[in-house]
Amino acid sequence: MTRTDLAGNGAGLVYLVGAGPGDPELLTLKAVRALARADVVLIDDLVNRAVLEHARPSARIIEVGKRGGCQSTPQAFIQKLMLHYARASRIVVRVKGGDPFMFGRGGEEIEALRAAGIPYEVISGVTAGIAAPAAIGIPVTHREHAVGVTFVTGHTKGGGGPDWAALSRTGTTLVIYMGIANLPGICAALLQAGMRADMPAAAVQSGTLAGQRQVLATLDTLHAQVTQAGLGSPAIVVIGEVVALADAARAGGAQGLLEHAREIQLAAA
Ligand code: SAH
Repeated sequence: MTRTDLAGNGAGLVYLVGAGPGDPELLTLKAVRALARADVVLIDDLVNRAVLEHARPSARIIEVGKRGGCQSTPQAFIQKLMLHYARASRIVVRVKGGDPFMFGRGGEEIEALRAAGIPYEVISGVTAGIAAPAAIGIPVTHREHAVGVTFVTGHTKGGGGPDWAALSRTGTTLVIYMGIANLPGICAALLQAGMRADMPAAAVQSGTLAGQRQVLATLDTLHAQVTQAGLGSPAIVVIGEVVALADAARAGGAQGLLEHAREIQLAAA
């Protein structure tokens, strides 16, 4: 397929790509294909740089980080860059951690693209809120333990935060993104709302990456244990009955069975 076919008029286009939670093998085949076509890659700082091996050597790589609290590239500027290169007939790949529409500002970016009339395609990614719990054997739903799952941010733009009391009554697993900074407040609000103190709770830092670390605790001890273990961002907090299903043995790191299988193959070869 030629560029002209895709964009319709020889203009550029933007792929909004989810790179998954960290393990570069959790990239989708579509993401790999988009990266291989990119003239320009705009990459967030949470994205594992290993994904860039799929880009052409000639691709221009632009780092546009926005990690909480640190110096970051303002969102308006990122959107401007995206539009600029697309208008210059470039294939732009905007790579984000996890899924682009899960707390990733993907919504804001497609609004800007639509307003500018630039063709785009969204390539979904594996979100950290599912993959980080899974990396320690926690299924976010389970017929016997949770009627569903709620993905929620612990950190809101206005500082207001979600209605924890309401969430505590849903019977769903709570998967909290960006929850470490407000962890004492979150746990206190859930306890005050009547959630049981011994509700299983976990935090997973750098899930699926070699540096993965985690804490298995209960609602009333989570914050103390996270502090003691020195866990920090990026981390997913999971609160709910399903956390009791965590596989403490698996909680050792990112080395999965697939990895072992490959080692055995190599050893046999
Ligand atoms: N779009 C991303 C989320 C972006 S918000 C996604 O779908 O996963 C950034 C937050 O995601 C972090 O503060 C952290 O809560 C979570 N996060 C991202 N990668 C993570 C990882 N490898 N392990 C644990 N949490 C992660």
